Amino acid sequence: MLTSSRMQGLHPYVPGEQPKDRDYIKINANENPYPPSPEVQKAVIDFVQNHPEKLGVYPDPDSNELHAAIADMLNKTGSVLCRAKVEGGKVTPAPEDKIPFTVTPEMIYSGNGSDEVLSFVFYAFFDSSKKFVMPQFTYSFYPVYAGFYNIPMDNVPLRADWTLDTEEMLKRAGGNKGGIIFANPNAPTGLGLTRAQVREMLKSASSDEIFIVDEAYVDFGGESCIPLIEEFKNLVIVRTFSKSLCGAGMRLGYIVANPELVNVVTTVKNSVNHFPIDAVAQVAGTAACLNPAYYAECAKKVADERDSFYNFLKDKGFYVLKSQTNFLFAKKDGIAGVDLYRRVKEQGILIRHFNTAGIEDFVRITIGTKDQMEKLKIAIEKICL
Ligand SMILES: *Cc1c(COP(=O)(O)O)cnc(C)c1O
Repeated sequence: MLTSSRMQGLHPYVPGEQPKDRDYIKINANENPYPPSPEVQKAVIDFVQNHPEKLGVYPDPDSNELHAAIADMLNKTGSVLCRAKVEGGKVTPAPEDKIPFTVTPEMIYSGNGSDEVLSFVFYAFFDSSKKFVMPQFTYSFYPVYAGFYNIPMDNVPLRADWTLDTEEMLKRAGGNKGGIIFANPNAPTGLGLTRAQVREMLKSASSDEIFIVDEAYVDFGGESCIPLIEEFKNLVIVRTFSKSLCGAGMRLGYIVANPELVNVVTTVKNSVNHFPIDAVAQVAGTAACLNPAYYAECAKKVADERDSFYNFLKDKGFYVLKSQTNFLFAKKDGIAGVDLYRRVKEQGILIRHFNTAGIEDFVRITIGTKDQMEKLKIAIEKICL
């Protein structure tokens, strides 16, 4: 056998499909339908045209400028973009989202997409004797890492209303000195816990238990737990540029946590890949953070479109969860998720369905532009006559 036994046991993640046979409207991978801000485009063009020599040397391994820009953006926007106030290009946090301390660059670690960041976080905090507890239905990359790193995992069923069973999660995590991971808002349900609920969980857990809260979608209407990191030194918030910062192709993700935890993850990074973020991505990410007003407006547009599409699906007789994200999780009696997906695809639109037992009736629809959603409405109307 040529390969290692470790290799033979891998179960890689399967991303949303990217077919090339025709030009589909692609609303199956929770990407943002809007491009990065004009400032990002300008910064990248300037970098390539005027500083090509910087492509010949290694980038800053610690992305210091990017971390300062991320911290600054969080302080200015208050951690949830769709509720931030935008006036004359200036952004101020909604009162309920304001972070009650100053986020500093020492509280930020960044990497090549939050998938890579998560991989280092898993390596840093779990191993074969430190299990993690997660919801039964959540981001399907977590179990992939459990397999990759040989971490025992414990799946806690969701409640009947699709919310997280926080009590059961705490109970199962108690005493194992491992921890808990969940996406908040969760995927693929789109439902979130309030900050007060997460705080209650943290208060009743031991400080030896790590809490990983993945806030990939929080900017579209969830409640961020960044305001809790000063109080809880066992809390790691994971975030990404791929959804609300219109930058899935830039591959940037980050954590916000106590500087000691940031150092731990940095040590893992420096033991695997010293330069995870290339020079162009650092420039692009820094430029994005300098213009949060643009992204706040994009997040508001997506959130408004989501709420209007929610009403449309309800009118058509769908069962839909009230999403705080940039996607909707919905099903309709009499049509399986895979069939709805197929019939929508025949009309040139890609949405996502699941083969996982328990959610196979559902589809997950990413919120696109108004125009894209109008086309999906027409497609669904044809199918559901
Ligand atoms: C999209 C997503 C990610 C991955 O984001 P990248 O930064 O593109 O790797 C992580 N967590 C959740 C819950 C996601 O939905």
